[in-house]
Amino acid sequence: MSSAAEGQPPDLAALPAGCAFAPRCPYTHDRCLAAPPSLEAAAGSRAWACYGYEAESAP
Ligand code: SF4
Repeated sequence: MSSAAEGQPPDLAALPAGCAFAPRCPYTHDRCLAAPPSLEAAAGSRAWACYGYEAESAP
């Protein structure tokens, strides 16, 4: 089961400096507010960009 993030999506004409999900993400930290995470390739045609995922999956 999936759920949508609470809150309003950002104004696309005035995106925040960091991650666009930061105002609605429960895992936001200082790094998320400073600069957006880079897009990383995943299996198939998928991609992801999240400092939290990066930290949790690091060896
Ligand atoms: S980078 Fe990940 S953890 Fe940080 S605000 Fe964005 S979605 Fe949340």
